[in-house]
Amino acid sequence: MSFKTLGLSDKLLKAISDEGYNKPTPIQKQAIPIILQKRDVLAGAQTGTGKTAGFTLPLLQMLDDGPPPKGKRQVRALILTPTRELAAQVAQSVETYGKYLPFKSTVIFGGVGVNPQISTLRKGVDIVIATPGRLLDLIEQKALNLSQVECLILDEADRMLDMGFIRDIRKILAFLPKRRQNLLFSATFSKEIKKLADTLLNNPALIEVARANKTAEQIKQIVYPVDKKRKRELISYLIGSNNWKQVLVFTRTKHGANRLCEQLGKDGLSSAAIHGNKSQGARTRALANFKEGSVRVLVATDIAARGIDIEELPHVINFELPNVAEDYVHRIGRTGRAGSIGEAISLVCIDEDELLQNIEKLTKYKIPKVKIKGFEPDKTIKAEPIQKQGGRSRKGGGQSSREHKPQRRQSSNTSRRRS
Ligand code: AMP
Repeated sequence: MSFKTLGLSDKLLKAISDEGYNKPTPIQKQAIPIILQKRDVLAGAQTGTGKTAGFTLPLLQMLDDGPPPKGKRQVRALILTPTRELAAQVAQSVETYGKYLPFKSTVIFGGVGVNPQISTLRKGVDIVIATPGRLLDLIEQKALNLSQVECLILDEADRMLDMGFIRDIRKILAFLPKRRQNLLFSATFSKEIKKLADTLLNNPALIEVARANKTAEQIKQIVYPVDKKRKRELISYLIGSNNWKQVLVFTRTKHGANRLCEQLGKDGLSSAAIHGNKSQGARTRALANFKEGSVRVLVATDIAARGIDIEELPHVINFELPNVAEDYVHRIGRTGRAGSIGEAISLVCIDEDELLQNIEKLTKYKIPKVKIKGFEPDKTIKAEPIQKQGGRSRKGGGQSSREHKPQRRQSSNTSRRRS
């Protein structure tokens, strides 16, 4: 099947072919025609499936099918994402696929000056891509009017709820017109997501590719059992002896990310850390250096890594398993994207046995365990409880507001940043 049969205009087809895409991915095949029918959609898709084009292409097509913009542009489409990085990436996709169309789009997120954003909005834009916190600030400052929005897209909705954005989202919804199309994309389906879908979506079409709580088949997964205090040595050994050039490593905490990054540096492996305490500039720089190859190891916490799109990332290493099993699916979704094979390695110490079991239960897959010679775990070491402080619990509330500190805020690597 080619893109031609999906109901997209020549201008969009040209932009797609400029990107070198020959055929639509499964999510694109399913989502594009349904979205073009102006139906609400509930879609289960991880990053790496091509979901961004899956909603951006039909969105641009629908806007183009409407009357051409005249007078000051009104915001006709709003895309909400959990993180700045993802917002920037989606905005890039809107630009890329819409390059032959007359629409203006802008990206809104926190951590950068507000005035340029206000001035762009004042000039008029058709599409806004935003993280919820800063968007709400701007709505409250009357810097933008959402009363003409025809289509609302929530991207990575599960992560938005995890980060405690539900209250901000509900507040934003109150500024949108009642009649509109809603598209909700989520990698996993928790009870909270189903509840949000029930209140937001009107008779949605359900689309699911590579079942939500299942890990993608093109990812080779492996567990290396190792003692906690020897993980750093093992990771340097793995990267060095295999001569891996581009490795994304996950830690549970920001502090842990910094420490590991320093230690890898001492082992002669160029590395950078990205997490919520780093400025936007530092994160963008680290990501750019990683992409172009001057940084070999990118150490990230879950939230900072969310939505990072690095094509054909070959290796993901869980230096520590995440406290929440769904995060494992998100983490390893960074590798083996769009058809290429990737490898997801987890360094698991005895304290993490239960976390591993939870992951295997969720993904319904028993990850092969391989002991590495010289790093076999010391059988005399007993399991110790993992400090929960640095992680989060899904039952932790999801409540967020700028007035109330959500419970998760205390967590070091997953605190809800003002976006
Ligand atoms: P996403 O799931 O939206 O993060 O997309 C993952 C990656 O797949 C991005 O790097 C896209 O550029 C790429 N991609 C999207 N659609 C296609 C396609 N039809 N063929 C090949 N690559 C694609």
